[in-house]
Amino acid sequence: MIRINENYRKLQSSYLFSEIAKRVAAFQEANPDREVIKLGIGDVTRPLPDVCVKAFHEGVDELAVGATFKGYGPEQGYPFLRETIAAHDFQSRNADIDAGEIFVSDGSKCDTANIQELFATDIKVAIPDPVYPVYLDTNVMAGRTGIYKDGRYGGVVYLPSTAENGFLPAFPDEPVDLIYLCFPNNPTGATITREALSQWVDFARDSKALILFDAAYVAFIRDPSLPHTIYEIDGAKEVAVEFRSFSKTAGFTGTRCAYTVVPKVCRAYDSEGAAQNLNALWHRRHTTKFNGVSYPVQKAAAAVYTPEGQAQTKGLVDYYLHNAAHIRDRVSDLGFDFIGGENAPYIWVNTGQDAWTFFDLILNKAGVVTTPGPGFGRCGEGFVRISAFNDFDKVKRAMDRIQQALG
Ligand code: PLP
Repeated sequence: MIRINENYRKLQSSYLFSEIAKRVAAFQEANPDREVIKLGIGDVTRPLPDVCVKAFHEGVDELAVGATFKGYGPEQGYPFLRETIAAHDFQSRNADIDAGEIFVSDGSKCDTANIQELFATDIKVAIPDPVYPVYLDTNVMAGRTGIYKDGRYGGVVYLPSTAENGFLPAFPDEPVDLIYLCFPNNPTGATITREALSQWVDFARDSKALILFDAAYVAFIRDPSLPHTIYEIDGAKEVAVEFRSFSKTAGFTGTRCAYTVVPKVCRAYDSEGAAQNLNALWHRRHTTKFNGVSYPVQKAAAAVYTPEGQAQTKGLVDYYLHNAAHIRDRVSDLGFDFIGGENAPYIWVNTGQDAWTFFDLILNKAGVVTTPGPGFGRCGEGFVRISAFNDFDKVKRAMDRIQQALG
């Protein structure tokens, strides 16, 4: 008899987006002529930069000709892309990362989900609250948690990120082995300083833990004092894996390209306590289970690093940051406490009431969709996430309508 992985039955959180979709559909049915503006989604709306489109086309044309045709590529990614990434995203910031430490993939969602397969089932996992739900759900699937009760899974060490601690995950008060951090943060839009990140690196070194650092939104950092990679911090290479994505940097959410950095000195331990090379383990996993990102997509990703690519992707991100600044101004005028939107595309608003009640009010009176905070964890109670990923005129119209709705 074929049996299922019972851990899947513990899963809860797909509830969030299906519940939002249900409420939006009910609103549309009752108000068929009303335009609904979605400031709830984390997907980009602007087209790919021209320079990427051109490189993408060129890559396809190469595949059409015998002399330049390519079949399977290197599973870890073409050297032309990995070398450019290493030089541009790391070495230029004095982070000593080389091309052999970079693994190109089809997305940070998959990478953050797949990496935990390298670790023992009975490790202690520390997860911020609120959080990008993938980190949590994939550990549930792997059997690292107990059942879900009162908004939390048993066995997980939650790290509350609240107004009181500046939305930086609290340090755990018990030993942990694996720590998820995401900066700039989804959903709060919070950023982390070099000093605060150094404390996490020290913590991981002291406790032989590993940090999984998700920097999917690094392109939104405009404050030059903020770290752009965890490897700017001394000692991070032994204790941190970093995830990067072209999704939000260059509008690749539908194109699919990302990469994971696993330094060659990065360690995890076997049951005898001996250090094992994580780069070699991830290489084994990646080359066994993945056959590489398509050649034209890697060509398009490499185009991001050309001078035109840098200018065009900056323009793209600036567009969303302009939206974010507008949302911040309007939310501030309405008298709400909030964080984010300065070095991040998300604004995390304290609604001062039940988050779903506020969500319904804004949907029904303004026709605007936000994301209720409890979908990201118990500490999201009372908050909504407003996303800057939309056209400016829609963002402006949405904020006008919210203002009107709130009287
Ligand atoms: N990490 C975070 C924090 C995200 O918010 C997202 C997407 O919304 C991802 C990773 C997924 O990135 P990708 O499109 O590369 O799978």
